Amino acid sequence: MISLHKNIIFLGAPGTGKGTVSHEISKIMGLKHISTGDIFREEIKNKSELGLKIQEIVASGLYVTDEITNAVVHKKVTNLKLQNINYILDGYPRTVEQANFLSSLNQDRFIVILLELSKEKIIERLSQRLFCSTCKRTYNSTNMKSLKHPNCELENTLLITRADDQPEAIIKRLEVYNQQTEVLIDYFKNKSMLFTLQADKEVTEIVLDIQEIYNK
Ligand code: ADP
Repeated sequence: MISLHKNIIFLGAPGTGKGTVSHEISKIMGLKHISTGDIFREEIKNKSELGLKIQEIVASGLYVTDEITNAVVHKKVTNLKLQNINYILDGYPRTVEQANFLSSLNQDRFIVILLELSKEKIIERLSQRLFCSTCKRTYNSTNMKSLKHPNCELENTLLITRADDQPEAIIKRLEVYNQQTEVLIDYFKNKSMLFTLQADKEVTEIVLDIQEIYNK
């Protein structure tokens, strides 16, 4: 039987726009947005047991352990599947172990969208990134400026620079991505699940491309 479910995985280095594009896709196509980065930042903000445990790891640009990350995602996707809700995984899986874990959950069909961007552009974007810790929306101090800068357009709260958008952490995150996540490109290519898009286009264009791929 063909499953009606189709979920999306966003793959790509930090700064390629996974969060921004996921947010738009979620709004337009009604898929639930699951960002492991947002989940971890919320735990840190709330000073929960998990938050205190991972705070320094996240701020330094390293990955949270697979065990913790898999457990967090497992709970989320199991609940969504029970309710027949399609979803976007933004920032998960990030390691082969996470990808194997996800595959072991038999979560219906996935398409994987890889967002590609040059290293120079990535560094430029991340160092100009501003974040609303209330609604999780991301802005950029030059080309995606909030209409209420330096506040969030929606929440009117002061935008912040994420701890892991400091220069040393940006370099660390790119290194970790190259060492641990880049292999997933071949992993998903070999399973014929991968679609690659250039990320230096308007968000609206990228969203249209994704809708076309999704609805094929
Ligand atoms: P970006 O994609 O811009 O790097 P995210 O908001 O997705 O940022 O993630 C921020 C941080 O949260 C990561 O640098 C990492 O410390 C942690 N994190 C998020 N997703 C994962 C994951 N799947 N595995 C391990 N750590 C993760």
